[in-house]
Amino acid sequence: MYAVISDIHGNLEALEAVLDDVPEDVETIFCLGDVIGYGANPDECCDIVRSLGMPTISGNHDLAVTDLDTDLNWFNPTAAAAVLWTRKHLGEENAEFLRTRPRMMRTGEALFVHGSVRDPDEYIINKISAQDNLAMLKNEYPDVPICYFGHTHVKAVAPSPNGAMSGGHTLDLHSGGPYLVNPGSVGQPRDGDTFASYVIADGKSVLYRFVEYDIRKAQAKIRAAGLPDMLADRLAIGR
Ligand code: ZN
Repeated sequence: MYAVISDIHGNLEALEAVLDDVPEDVETIFCLGDVIGYGANPDECCDIVRSLGMPTISGNHDLAVTDLDTDLNWFNPTAAAAVLWTRKHLGEENAEFLRTRPRMMRTGEALFVHGSVRDPDEYIINKISAQDNLAMLKNEYPDVPICYFGHTHVKAVAPSPNGAMSGGHTLDLHSGGPYLVNPGSVGQPRDGDTFASYVIADGKSVLYRFVEYDIRKAQAKIRAAGLPDMLADRLAIGR
């Protein structure tokens, strides 16, 4: 059994709560990138990801912080402020680690990307982008039944889970496919849910796990760090 987490974004309280929740029979935790950016504990979160040996890909925030040539005009002002703050609060070794991760990973049974199959910076946010990427997945990775993606911070399964989702939050991989699955965000959900989310999978099914954490503590640290207030506020509304 394995777990997939994404978009930690320097939220140590959320990451620790998720790790506490991961069942013991999970052998590997895959990380879809954006370990840092927005939250007040980028260095601590990266330490944990590295020390647990999580196979990890680089997200756009990981690269924006660690690659000083990144054009920050692509980021909104709040995100850009967070990038600049995070650059000052991330150790050399962690920066090197995040800068040198692959942008895509593959195991025998799954593909792992930050944004999408065709572009690590693409947001899969609608039916069309999901369909295009499912077509590409079928063509280029015909043996891969599932591709995990992050970047949007929104829990999602495509094709839409009509019939495929059972038992509340379980995706049955026997019923068709391939599938695109977004586990949601650990550290900054944007789908109206305030809890951290991730998935566990065993090749037959994918199960969503929802984890409450100490939001107030994470918010207080963001404010105390001098990061934009909005980054603290949004954790309480999941937007
Ligand atoms: Zn992100």
